[in-house]
Amino acid sequence: MTSTSESGHLSPDEIRERYRIEREKRLRSDGTGQFKTIAGEWADFGRDPFSDPNFTRDAVKEETEVVIVGAGFGGMLAAHHLRKAGITNFRMIDLAGDFGGTWYWNRYPNCACDVESYVYLPLLEETGYMPTEKYVKAYEIFAYCQLLGRTLDLYSKALFQTEVEDMRWDDESQRWHTTTSRGDDLSSKFVIIAGGVLHRPKLPDVDGIRGFKGKMFHTSRWDYGYTGGSPTEKMVNLADKRVGIIGTGATAVQAVPKLAEAAKELYVFQRTPALVGKRNNKPTDPEWFKTLKPGWQAERIVNFTQAITGSQPEVDMVADEWTKLFWTDTRKFPESEEEAAALEQLDFDNVQMIRDHIANIVTDPEIAKKLMPWYSQACKRPCFHDEYLPAFNRSNVHLVDTDGHGINEIGENGPIFDGVEYPVDLLIFASGYEVTSDYHHRLGFDPKGRGGVPLSQAWGTGPSTLQGVLTRGFPNMLMISTVQGAQATNFLHSISTVAEHVGWLVAKAKADGITTMEPIEAAQEEWFNLLLGQVFGIARYNAVCTPGYLNREGEAGDMTTARSMAWMTSVMGFIDHVAAWRARGDLAGLEVHTA
Ligand code: NDP
Repeated sequence: MTSTSESGHLSPDEIRERYRIEREKRLRSDGTGQFKTIAGEWADFGRDPFSDPNFTRDAVKEETEVVIVGAGFGGMLAAHHLRKAGITNFRMIDLAGDFGGTWYWNRYPNCACDVESYVYLPLLEETGYMPTEKYVKAYEIFAYCQLLGRTLDLYSKALFQTEVEDMRWDDESQRWHTTTSRGDDLSSKFVIIAGGVLHRPKLPDVDGIRGFKGKMFHTSRWDYGYTGGSPTEKMVNLADKRVGIIGTGATAVQAVPKLAEAAKELYVFQRTPALVGKRNNKPTDPEWFKTLKPGWQAERIVNFTQAITGSQPEVDMVADEWTKLFWTDTRKFPESEEEAAALEQLDFDNVQMIRDHIANIVTDPEIAKKLMPWYSQACKRPCFHDEYLPAFNRSNVHLVDTDGHGINEIGENGPIFDGVEYPVDLLIFASGYEVTSDYHHRLGFDPKGRGGVPLSQAWGTGPSTLQGVLTRGFPNMLMISTVQGAQATNFLHSISTVAEHVGWLVAKAKADGITTMEPIEAAQEEWFNLLLGQVFGIARYNAVCTPGYLNREGEAGDMTTARSMAWMTSVMGFIDHVAAWRARGDLAGLEVHTA
């Protein structure tokens, strides 16, 4: 492809230098401390605008087999696997008012899944559901979660609008006790914690937020009462409003086009431009869908993961911009200098292709230049959208590029940058989620294990687990999380894998008469060393990345950070590992007790 932007002629040294300069601008001494957590005096930003605030119900006091925390896909799939294993005695708890997790909370306009629906939505063959598009919108996914809730008969198990207040292991009864904000008191043999990954919204820690006189909210708590409209209808109340949005990550990229259509004026406050490629969404062809043979979904899910993690399968089933961009894993640890140079060049070329795309779409060359990313392709989650870039060709859309500095102050009328206040009626925070904060903090409760030891204390110098699922001192506590656990670009691939694994563990305990299971210390260290062995390629890549949540905002990181890492290579390796472990049947690395 010929390069349409002037930057297409830079040498590798010049590109490296440009990346370095852009990174330096964004490195901050406060690193991950640059955000406010939405709790305490900021808790109002986390209030649920979607469910009845006056909802009440009787407290539930019962003994059950399993308590599942989280009613998103992780919790639902864990419940599904318990049911499949004949375990029907379980409870589910969630702060949200319905099933869905991420898809309950994220209702901002245009919200959609950026991974193909045929590989993202779980259990499509079981439900017989045909997604309407290749990339479905959030409201369809939320409705699908409700459909799953009905199909899997989970509604009778769920305690919604309920927060876990305390969860503690009782050595005498060999059971967990969970109490909640609604007075529930649940005793269970197992707990499964599927608390989410990107679920705790954060705000930039800037001066003046409380002094702002207009309306404000975070994208994950969209207030349609103020904006008018709905996820499917135009936000008519914004026709006479000036709107500001802080952040240009994956969320803002989706929301900006609809805001641009609805608002009188839209100000987009940018710190780092997103890497935005083509989307090419299309409706599902029902005739094609009918041709799919049993087993198609599992095959397609694996094929997608292989295609974006460098395995280069014979057929590229999904064949989209993800698979094009990540067909070769440019983050892999190179075996020679030649390979290192080739991988780096490929990454340079891919990002250049994105810059060329921007130059082709955005008509004002100065604005186009400001929207161009100067970092490696996997430093941030890449975005794919066909309406985001054209939005900047509209006369009511104003890009306020802060050249890497970000907004550090908000005045009573709006954000201030470079001494200029930008007056807005509505200020939207598209500032993302906590990813690197302590696990118990993100959960919102601190489980107490044997002897009343809180998880925060047990993991004081960093997490220790076996397979990211079990941790010593917390018998029968099973986690579905990325802390030392599986992760994948298609989150549902990793979540489904771990949900199946925890379901298997509970079923195995039942079948073998096991009362408690927890890892031995040596097995936890062995697991950590296995994770460490995978990290070099990615650590090398991330070390020169522009700051973001994937590299802890560029902080060097301590042992706690290192020990919080996920399985960093392809999730296929994790799947093979746990499958082989299960097939051996000896529960190697676990201390088990039977009745
Ligand atoms: P991100 O953390 O990715 O983005 C936050 C944005 O806020 C960044 O652009 C950041 O800039 C900006 N920001 C932070 N502080 C300031 C400041 N002081 N001034 C100006 N800008 C600031 O959050 P998102 O909600 O966009 O996305 C989070 C994740 O959610 C994604 O990475 C993705 O994994 C997931 N997601 C998935 C989707 C899907 O379709 N599957 C859709 C949407 C989100 P900077 O880049 O400089 O830090």
